[in-house]
Amino acid sequence: MQKFLIAAVVVLACAGLAVADPAPDLILWHGRIHTEDPGRSVAEALAIRGNTIVAVGTDAVVGALRGPATRLVDLAGHVVLPGIIDAHIHPAQSAQDLGKCNLGDRALGAAEIRSAIGRCAAENPGDPQLWFEVTGVNASALTLTRDELDAMLPGRPLLLESADGHSAWLDSIALAAAHLGAASHDPVGGRIERDAAGRPTGTLRDEAVNLALKAKPAPSLDVEAAQLDRAFALMRATGITSVQDADDNEHYLEIYKRLYDTHRLDMRVRGSYTLANLHEPATVLIGRAIRFRTRWAVDPDFLRIGGVKIFADGVVEYPSHTASLLEPYLDAAGHLTADRGPSYFTQRNLNRIVSAADAAGFTVHVHAIGDRAVRAALDAFAYSRAHNGPLDNRDQIAHLELVDPADLPRFRQLGVIANMQLLWARRDAYIVKGTLAYVGPERAARLYPARSLRDAGARLAGGSDWGVSSFNAFEAMERAITRADGRGLEPLFPEQGLRIGDVVDAYTINAAYALKQERTTGSLEPGKRADLILLDRDIFAIDPYDLHATRVLATYLDGREVYHADGP
Ligand SMILES: [Zn+2]
Repeated sequence: MQKFLIAAVVVLACAGLAVADPAPDLILWHGRIHTEDPGRSVAEALAIRGNTIVAVGTDAVVGALRGPATRLVDLAGHVVLPGIIDAHIHPAQSAQDLGKCNLGDRALGAAEIRSAIGRCAAENPGDPQLWFEVTGVNASALTLTRDELDAMLPGRPLLLESADGHSAWLDSIALAAAHLGAASHDPVGGRIERDAAGRPTGTLRDEAVNLALKAKPAPSLDVEAAQLDRAFALMRATGITSVQDADDNEHYLEIYKRLYDTHRLDMRVRGSYTLANLHEPATVLIGRAIRFRTRWAVDPDFLRIGGVKIFADGVVEYPSHTASLLEPYLDAAGHLTADRGPSYFTQRNLNRIVSAADAAGFTVHVHAIGDRAVRAALDAFAYSRAHNGPLDNRDQIAHLELVDPADLPRFRQLGVIANMQLLWARRDAYIVKGTLAYVGPERAARLYPARSLRDAGARLAGGSDWGVSSFNAFEAMERAITRADGRGLEPLFPEQGLRIGDVVDAYTINAAYALKQERTTGSLEPGKRADLILLDRDIFAIDPYDLHATRVLATYLDGREVYHADGP
């Protein structure tokens, strides 16, 4: 009996060798391959078979694996990284804005916006039956009256959307089409701004923005899928190979699925189902999320739902002031007000929602800008840990503009990932005009505390929040290190700057962890999927102020080259 067993093992082992070791399809060599493995080792060469990395090491060792059909790519000393993973982005939604009238998130007044819209409408009037849409409006310090809105493009339904997604403005024609009037109620988690008579002024904040988006006539699914296809091609050209959609609904999944069904989904997509009304019972909300996850479990590698999304507050900038703060906002002159921002939930219900989501195995992904929202999220995670015991859900808080110092160690203690959008850490109009005066100098000095979080042991993941801002991760890496808009400009509290190793981790292995796919992506190691990018410069050696100009020469996804730069 024993003899037979040994013989069987030998046969199996031989068969295993014979099947498992055909020559690689592709060997990349003569490079500087930053593997992001646990030792952060740098290799010269990497071999791929099918969609999988089969060897990583020196030119001599990996080169020796080649067979007659193996294709060799000479990296010519260039740097290779794992594919960029964007842990907080809105592809299906924001792709629909490609080609629209975009104001570029510049701080403009009513008259300047009006003339910019006039120029857009003259160049590209679009279908007169549809609403005229304007994106990239900078909401910081912007107030628009209904008369000003009505004068912008007379006779046409007009929708303006802020770059941060938290404000929208409608003219009277669009307000009427959306059935928004004096009798309309504010939605949970949002505000319809009104004049003294209670009439909507045309300005919508937070969840109320969706009233406008739902009311506007929609293009066909094929048109929307083509827009998403375009957006993903642009992302692959900057090295992105995986994304975590941070705000999903049925419709966005239909768009992803259309691309998938037509074999055009060259991007790993992990979705997060948005829990819109935080006053609903936890069992109802999470029951809906579970059905959503089941319905859209399309492909474990390329299209799945792993998270639920919770908006714990809005944005900090004047005049929105929808971020929830522990201490009140100041007014423009620096005097204390009574306003600490809204509360979109009760702590009791948030605790139950987070705990139920965790128990169901979801990654809980909380939008929190203000320190009171951050604390509420951490309190809910603590409640969940006490009820559920330790779990491995990769819960995360995104944005983290203001964190109370007492809460910094809680990220490590509770195992909560800091999902940061560090492109924003600079002295732009949002900060200078819309934030600094209204939070006062003590809080201002703690904005975007990336280094403090890191030093307190938090795991940092990187995300762009595109369409709010550029999805180019190298621009965000530069900002995360320099905290400045460019060389010679005043940084935003440079002591919060990160090191290059931290930011590369944030966009590769840490983001893979945040997407719960670090077993297959995020580093270049044998057995993992071959998602990798080839860069035109050594980002570990250059002046950080040159990072934004980094060009991706080639992008590989699942073993296939899905982008190649033209020219030398
Ligand atoms: Zn977002």
